[in-house]
Amino acid sequence: MRKNIELDDTLCVIPPETPLDGFASLAVPVYRASTIVFPNAAAYRSRAARSPDGYSYGLSGTPTARTLEGQLCALHNAERAIVVPSGQAAISVTMLALLKNGEHLLIADNVYPPVKDFACEILGDLGIETEFFDPTRMVDLEARLQPGRTRLVWIESPGSTSMEICDIPSISRLSKAAGAYLGCDNTWATGLLCKPLDLGVDIVAEALTKYVGGHSDILLGAIILRDIELYRRIRATLSSFGVGVSPDECSLALRGMQTMGLRLRHVGEISEEFAHRLAENCSHAVLHPCLGNCAGHTLWQRDFKGSSGVFSLQLDGVSAEAVDRALDGLKTFVIGNSWGGTRSIIAPMVIAPDRQVMLSGDQTTHLRISIGLENVDHLWADLKYMLRSLQLQ
Ligand SMILES: *Cc1c(COP(=O)(O)O)cnc(C)c1O
Repeated sequence: MRKNIELDDTLCVIPPETPLDGFASLAVPVYRASTIVFPNAAAYRSRAARSPDGYSYGLSGTPTARTLEGQLCALHNAERAIVVPSGQAAISVTMLALLKNGEHLLIADNVYPPVKDFACEILGDLGIETEFFDPTRMVDLEARLQPGRTRLVWIESPGSTSMEICDIPSISRLSKAAGAYLGCDNTWATGLLCKPLDLGVDIVAEALTKYVGGHSDILLGAIILRDIELYRRIRATLSSFGVGVSPDECSLALRGMQTMGLRLRHVGEISEEFAHRLAENCSHAVLHPCLGNCAGHTLWQRDFKGSSGVFSLQLDGVSAEAVDRALDGLKTFVIGNSWGGTRSIIAPMVIAPDRQVMLSGDQTTHLRISIGLENVDHLWADLKYMLRSLQLQ
């Protein structure tokens, strides 16, 4: 038997309007949407006029993403920010949106290595020429810039794993004079410790996966800028690719941001303290911008407000077996990629194959150390054990 139950079908698919009066929640709601509804046919026909900021389809973001983008803008003194699915996507999409066949791209030799692979392989096939340069030597940049043909210069400060700080204002002046945009990966510092747009950078990319997310459970990236025309181009490129982000990831990033100030102050203080202690207690080079002998230390004092929690120990001529034995005895640190979460992480990196200009020995292992929120004595006991084990090799 079935008695006209279809009569209530409409009630099932149209929820009642619920007043929000008096609902002053502190939390940013998770707004989900593919379809956005228009008030009338004319509004639908003119929907293109809503881009690049307004809402016309869920792919370009809901108010949850816009809130995160607005918060990143505020931290960076920016005009616009765009959230994308990962830090790597922030960089690759920026490069694809800006560069075209026949143009020239200069990438600092010490950037996140997958960026170099992307440029050589994907951009190379599109007829875009990539060259690497040493961002600590202005003469090297000057010699490689091709005025009118170099469209983009890409840097990361401090450099991945080897931790050199570069002179962003000087690199900006040289790049602008040659007619190139300057992009900067600011993942290590976040907007709390460095604001590259204030130093002359045109486009900032960050992996929100790291300190903004802060709990090793999301992948997200951001493109942050002031130039509205560039912003339009990058949004249009993302829309053509069909790339958008889930409001759940944005919600977790918004939650992570709430504690980012406290977390960064803590891990920054401990990373500096451990860098000094390691430098006193071992013969291997400690690479941390807070140390006077680190490349760009005075630039770091000038342009940064402090340290985050990542630095490196450079082990020259220590065998892989000895390194692995030392790491396998760690009790509190875990071994793995990525960083910026609550757990302290160590990764043994051999960077020689990733470097074309700033060479590294193939007998050199860099231990990349990311400080988390565990008890400081437990962490130091691990590092002391590691140093003893390395000396016993
Ligand atoms: C992790 C990282 C990236 C890539 O971020 P994902 O979200 O993992 O793709 C880019 N740049 C730097 C400096 C990073 O540390």
